[in-house]
This record gives sequence, C-alpha cells and structure tokens, in this order.
Amino acid sequence: QRVGYALVGLGHLTLEELLPAFGECKKSKPVALVSGSPEKLAKVAKQYGIKPTSCYSYADYDKLKDNPEVQAIYIVLPNSMHAEYVIRGAKTGKHILCEKPMANSARECELMIAACKEAKVKLMIAYRIQYEPYNRLVRDMVRSQKFGKVKYIQGQNSQSSANADHWRHKKALAGGGALPDIGLYCLNTSRFLLGTEPTEVFGYMHSTPGNPLFKEVEEMMSWQMRFPGGIVVDSITHYDTHDSRFYRVNAERGWLHLDNGYAYRGQQLKTSHAEGPAKMQNQITIGAKNQFAAEMDHFSECILENKPPHTPGEEGLQDQRIMEAIYQSAREGRPVKLPPVSGTDVFR
Ligand code: NAD
Repeated sequence: QRVGYALVGLGHLTLEELLPAFGECKKSKPVALVSGSPEKLAKVAKQYGIKPTSCYSYADYDKLKDNPEVQAIYIVLPNSMHAEYVIRGAKTGKHILCEKPMANSARECELMIAACKEAKVKLMIAYRIQYEPYNRLVRDMVRSQKFGKVKYIQGQNSQSSANADHWRHKKALAGGGALPDIGLYCLNTSRFLLGTEPTEVFGYMHSTPGNPLFKEVEEMMSWQMRFPGGIVVDSITHYDTHDSRFYRVNAERGWLHLDNGYAYRGQQLKTSHAEGPAKMQNQITIGAKNQFAAEMDHFSECILENKPPHTPGEEGLQDQRIMEAIYQSAREGRPVKLPPVSGTDVFR
C-alpha cells in the first residue's frame, strides 16, 4: 500500500530529487502536481504518469480536498509561502510534509502547528538528514558514547550562489540568507546527534558590502551553541565559497568525521580513536540509501500506521526560535540565552 502525494512547486528540488526519489520508495507515490506553469505541469505529469485531472494551478490548490488519491501534500515552495500553503493544505484534510526551513518566523510556525492540530492532520518537516543512514549511525555512536562523552562538534555547510534575482536572495521570500537555507543543517543535525537542546547561542554575521547577492540576506553566519554539560557546537555557513558540507564530533577518546555529512549523497565516515598507546583511524562503510525516499516513506508509514512523525512541526519551530536568537546575537554582538524546552515540545 502506497500513500499518494501531491507535490506543490515544480522547482529544482521537486524535479531533480523528489520525483526521481519516488522510484526508490516502498510506501509513497506521486499522484498530483501543483504549479503556476501549465506547460511544466503537462510535461512533468506525462513523465511520471500523473493524470491531467490531478494537475492543479495555485488558485486551484484547495481542490486537492476532492481528490481521493491524494493522502499527503508535500510543500516545496519558497520559504515565505510555506505557512500559507500548510494552513490552506490542512483545511483540505490531507496530511502535510513541508520543506525546511519550516517558515520565516516562529509565529508562523505556531500558526502552522495549530492549523494542522485543528484539522487533525499530521505535520512533518522534511529534515532529510535525520533519515539518512550515516547520520543515523553517527547519532547512535554519539548517544551510546562509543568514544566517551562528546565535548564539541564543528560543522560547516557552505556553497556559492550566483543569481541575485533568485528568491533565495530576497529577504521577504527567503527569510534570511545562508543560515535558514543551509546553515540550518548544522543546527538541526547537532540537536539530532546530541538529543538535547542548546541553552545559549552567539552569532557573528557578515555580508560583503556592495555585492548585490547579499544586499538583503546574509552571506555568512558563524555561530556557537552551548549545550548542557559544557558541550559546544561551532558552525559556519557561507554563500560564497566552494561547496563544503562536513562535520566532526569530538569525544573523550575519539572523533567521528562525516564528509558530505549535510549533502544529498556521498557521505564518508571516518573515525579515530585510541587503542592503548596506538591511535587508530578507520573508514566505516554502510549501505547508502536515498534520504529523500527514506524521509517520504517515514511520513507514509506514520500515515498508514497512525504514528506521530519523527520530525514534526515542533522540530521546525524549535529551529526557528534558535535561528531568531542567533540573528539577535549577531545584531547585538552578545550571547543570547534560550528558554528551556520541555521534553514534550520536541519529539526525538
Ligand atoms: P526553486 O526556486 O528551484 O523552486 C521553487 C518553485 O516555487 C518554483 O517552481 C517556482 O516557480 C515556484 N514558485 C511559486 N511561487 C513563487 C514565487 N513567488 N517566487 C519564486 N518561486 C515561486 O527552489 P527549490 O530549491 O526547489 O526550493 C524549494 C523549497 O525546498 C525551499 O523551501 C527550500 O528551502 C527547500 N529545499 C530543500 C532542500 C533539501 O535538501 N531538503 C533542498 C533544496 C531546497
């Protein structure tokens, strides 16, 4: 039995990653498309065997309500549109999977969670890394204290961008620059690995003056998060460097280094640990899995078995609150404390 998905927004992620990933899914299938372009709708529907009657414009989005083949809606639109399309989507009675970042403000996240609760539909944020096998293995090794207690984590997620006209460079559409787009992975993954919440953040932000790419959104954010037990997570994200997407977890008796840790594919896990006087280095290889397929199948399983998703709306809200604190810290040039989060707020 496969859950039928309506994909909303036919941009890079939908066309290059999500639609092809359905081929590797066991519990999910694409059954409807929503786009502003009739030509694109016709072309993509033909390619993936989707009925012309299951292709919708944005104005017709609410008509998904009457399509019995659709059980889940996957929102893959610019960040500023997530709140509106999740709230309208909930009213159709379909379950909602929403791309990261969840929204442009914590307030919007709260409204999205409330709308899905009221409509009694599930809401999951598409944190693909949390469904990717290497990242899950690192999480298990961290939580089981394979190399002793973790002391600090360093991560970076950086890339270059060239098109100042793209929505990612407009504050109203993107909410911010490198931080909510790609830095979010450093933030969310460290919370996932540690299973605890940061208590304080300190951010440092930069945009090259005169560069039209960074007129509205930040080029770089470097930030530290203090976690319980004195653990520090040190991260940097940049929009104007060669691609770099790794993290290293440093523990008492060893480290875990995940190259391409935040990437779509190509994860390489190296470890080092002490064995008596010797220092051992290993490369660990496990079966790779398409993380988008794993993420969609997880949500389908939650729908089929009526279970809460592993990365619900509350997870996106918590990241949004932390990002707002990082921006505040960078603006004010001082550390910002975070309020404690009760155990039931964020599912782990
Ligand atoms: P994109 O620009 O390639 O696609 C966005 C789509 O939205 C396009 O089809 C565009 O036509 C449509 N759209 C509708 N209204 C628009 C408007 N007013 N302005 C601009 N576009 C409009 O973007 P993308 O890279 O596919 O990103 C979409 C979402 O997916 C974003 O929230 C992004 O953060 C997220 N994303 C997640 C990952 C991941 O690894 N999980 C990767 C890339 C993008």
